[in-house]
Amino acid sequence: MKIFEPHIHLYARTTDDYERLALCGVRAVVEPSFWLGQPRTSVGTFVDYWAAIRGYEHQRAKAYAIDQYHTISVNPREANDEGLAQEALDVMEPFLAHERCVAVGEIGYDDITDAEERVMVRQLEMAQRTGLPVLVHSAHREKRRGTERNLALLKEMGFAPDQVLYDHNTEETMDLVRAWGCWAGLTVYPFTKLTPERAANLLEAYGHERTMINSSADWGPSDPLMVPRTILELRRRGWDDLRIEQLVWENPRDFYAQSGRLVPPTVEAAVAAPR
Ligand SMILES: [Zn+2]
Repeated sequence: MKIFEPHIHLYARTTDDYERLALCGVRAVVEPSFWLGQPRTSVGTFVDYWAAIRGYEHQRAKAYAIDQYHTISVNPREANDEGLAQEALDVMEPFLAHERCVAVGEIGYDDITDAEERVMVRQLEMAQRTGLPVLVHSAHREKRRGTERNLALLKEMGFAPDQVLYDHNTEETMDLVRAWGCWAGLTVYPFTKLTPERAANLLEAYGHERTMINSSADWGPSDPLMVPRTILELRRRGWDDLRIEQLVWENPRDFYAQSGRLVPPTVEAAVAAPR
């Protein structure tokens, strides 16, 4: 079965992980812009990071026949050093023009501050100017309030639900995301966030339409194989391959195809025609 991993920070992982993903059937990945783990001190570190996820990471993936795409942003966790964040935004837009940049993201709230909102709004405006979809990360704290505020902002700015992937949902947020109709991401983690069992429960409660699962694996305690592990859980529950492939291949492909930038073999040639 083909797997499209829609949210993974392989920049923070070893090359062995690319091999393990390839062995499990992962054929395409999206590497979203992440934070550094410690405060950045100059705009050059953003520029080098964005260049690395579209350059070096693409090459590392290619060595394992994985089609790699990326998304570009100033991460919400880096928005509260607002002077530096705004400086980074001043130089970010040209990165959105890259042929493998498939969304603006991840953006959203961390602590739900006004600075985070200003930084997010500027990036949402860039998404509107470039016609790219957006990958929005649910708030780390106060998830439900953050989600309500986030979805209200997206609606107010005129985003269509199709254009938005709202990620890291839990039992607290799924009804809000379903009520609006945007795409939903479920992040499966070995300890925190969702376990494969909780993700499967949510999929059974809310259906798998407009939904995708991801590992969001990074340099913290996480596991790049959480999508295959969740597939195993779904098989145990009697899900057939057709339904699973919609969840782990077709849904992420259809969301990111809105960028007009997915290429064969991720999409068939006709679907890959530029906008
Ligand atoms: Zn992430």
